[in-house]
Amino acid sequence: MSHILTKNSFAAINLDGVLGACLDLDDTLYAYEPCNRKGYEAVLRRVQDRQIVGAEELEAAWKEARNKTHVQLKGQAASHSRLLYLHSALELIFGKSRPLLALELEDCFWEAYLDAMEWNPEAEQFLQRLNAADIRTCIVTDLTTHIQFRKWARLGLERYFDFMVTSEEAGLEKPDPVIFRLALDKLQLPPEQVIMVGDNHEKDILGAAQSGIRAYLI
Ligand SMILES: [Mg+2]
Repeated sequence: MSHILTKNSFAAINLDGVLGACLDLDDTLYAYEPCNRKGYEAVLRRVQDRQIVGAEELEAAWKEARNKTHVQLKGQAASHSRLLYLHSALELIFGKSRPLLALELEDCFWEAYLDAMEWNPEAEQFLQRLNAADIRTCIVTDLTTHIQFRKWARLGLERYFDFMVTSEEAGLEKPDPVIFRLALDKLQLPPEQVIMVGDNHEKDILGAAQSGIRAYLI
């Protein structure tokens, strides 16, 4: 339990007796915020350039739509869906659904986002350590599967990971134990032989600890 409230560096994580490792993706393997900002800015530029709607109007509608989606889908992967934010924002603006435009802007968001992704070098070194020690690895991540697979492709996670579990697949988000149970099933290991590493105290650390997995906040 002593690991739970202390922030750790990747290099300091002790791998003695560890046979499996679960890692969070967003804000653990790379910095989330710069990517999210790039995606958002690309969408605002696109609607302005194409004179679809003013950037300020979209910003206000996006904010309202995001809050509504968070409340409506709390605890589910799709609560962060940019497609749903855009769908709902465009309905607020146009008074009707605009699925084709929502799809176009979603693509625009994720293209710019993925393009901005850069490895946290310490995380990559840690994964090399895990691989060298023959430790089985699983990403445990909140969000819909399609975009998390695209991030997997962008970072080349194939090189380092055996498995991925998304909250869409599990049905509920971290810290719900269901997602950690699914990861343990895939790794075919008991919780005592597995560690979890992530940036979010409630989701990654308390969630894993509830399932008996030793967790490291980084
Ligand atoms: Mg995270």
